[in-house]
Amino acid sequence: MTLDIPFDNSYAQLPPAFFTRLDPTPVKSPRLLAFNEALARELGIAPQEADLAAIFAGNKVPEGATPLAQLYAGHQFGGFSPQLGDGRANLLGEVIDRTGSRRDIQLKGSGPTPYSRMGDGRAWLGPVLREYVVSEAMHAMGVPTTRALAAVVTGESVYRETGALPGAVLTRVASSHIRVGTFQVFLARRDLESLRALYDYTRARHTPEAQSPGDMLRAVIDRQARLIAAWESLGFIHGVMNTDNTTLSGETIDYGPCAFMDRYHPDTVFSSIDAHGRYAYGNQRHVIVWNLAQLATCLVPLHDDQDAAVEEMTRDIHAMPELIGRYWLSAFGHKIGLDDASESDRPLIDELLALMAASGADFTNTFRALADGSARDQVTDRDAYDAWHAKWQARLASETGTAERMRAANPWVIPRNHRIEQMIEAAVAGDMAPFERLMRVLATPYEAQPDEAELTRPPRSAEVVQQTFCGT
Ligand code: AMP
Ligand code: MG
Repeated sequence: MTLDIPFDNSYAQLPPAFFTRLDPTPVKSPRLLAFNEALARELGIAPQEADLAAIFAGNKVPEGATPLAQLYAGHQFGGFSPQLGDGRANLLGEVIDRTGSRRDIQLKGSGPTPYSRMGDGRAWLGPVLREYVVSEAMHAMGVPTTRALAAVVTGESVYRETGALPGAVLTRVASSHIRVGTFQVFLARRDLESLRALYDYTRARHTPEAQSPGDMLRAVIDRQARLIAAWESLGFIHGVMNTDNTTLSGETIDYGPCAFMDRYHPDTVFSSIDAHGRYAYGNQRHVIVWNLAQLATCLVPLHDDQDAAVEEMTRDIHAMPELIGRYWLSAFGHKIGLDDASESDRPLIDELLALMAASGADFTNTFRALADGSARDQVTDRDAYDAWHAKWQARLASETGTAERMRAANPWVIPRNHRIEQMIEAAVAGDMAPFERLMRVLATPYEAQPDEAELTRPPRSAEVVQQTFCGT
């Protein structure tokens, strides 16, 4: 029996220039590793006996699906690639979820497409499980993100620098897969008709209140500003913030070489391909402004009065750093217990971060320890901490519910890099218990789970993950 997925596909109705209709490439012997039942229910997918492995490997195309590979372009590390596109993914279609929102269902690692570049269109198990765990943890932490519906091993090997690895397919759910790069591909081709069709589609799907492309840009600026502040507040480093990995929906997408910091330092980089730290933790707020300036460039030709549009959009782009700063202040205010932090509170937060950076303090555990009164143990310069603590306490005197606020803003547990690596190693060896454990504990990341305290421990020196890699 097949799975009843209530497809309602709109992207497939767009002009042919937007995509290539293409079924996933079947795999040898699919086996289901994970299925997100709660998310399936949210999507209106009726739980029933079905060959989930065959469906989520792409071997069996479910009724109502219109599989396609999406076209896009993008700036990768600042250099423009005029044509990218899904090189190893198939959008099966969309469903309207329980809350009335349209959601994409996409298979990733599902075979080559006309847009594949120097690759086999496949993914290996490591990045598939990494994205599964991290995206679901991000969701549990309240960050806008794509979700993970299923993971399947294919029974085939994929070959990477390190040799043969088990192939896998991830089923990803997203508010949409429209990227800054989706607009860029049509601008690069001077295809104004498609650009307008994409604007109309995106406006209806993500910003129906927008009266103009300028309005839509402002809405995206706001969402992305909020998103970057949320990443920063959790010590999250995306790792590959190319314009093709920046969504119009404001969701985090494409968990490749992403990582959470253990020791705090704003210059932290994990990605093996980010040699110059373009996407370092502290640079994300600058890069996103640059990325949205590329979106603005794409939207200018849609205005009748282009000079006025340039002026208006330039103003909005230039205002973005301050907007990010305001969301940052609010998020980090909560992290130190303040309900509504104001500009005058900024030095208090900056001072704590400077102390943490000087100490190489654990980002997550130091903030969490504030509520328990044990943060002093996390830093090396105790005198400086005591001086900061006195100022902090004086400021907290006028607040109520501070411990609760801090526990709600500072996760008890995050998906630490070394735990992810250990989980992947176990999964490759056929042991899914570490994956199950991470999924269980990370489902309620703000709740102290004393029996699982081992997962809050920073890595020992032998466990430290120095570099992360793209899925490719
Ligand atoms: P990513 O954002 O890391 O998924 O990759 C960016 C783009 O690189 C994808 O959209 C594909 O076009 C291409 N790509 C990545 N991995 C592969 C692969 N294994 N086979 C073919 N193309 C790939
Ligand atoms: Mg990508």
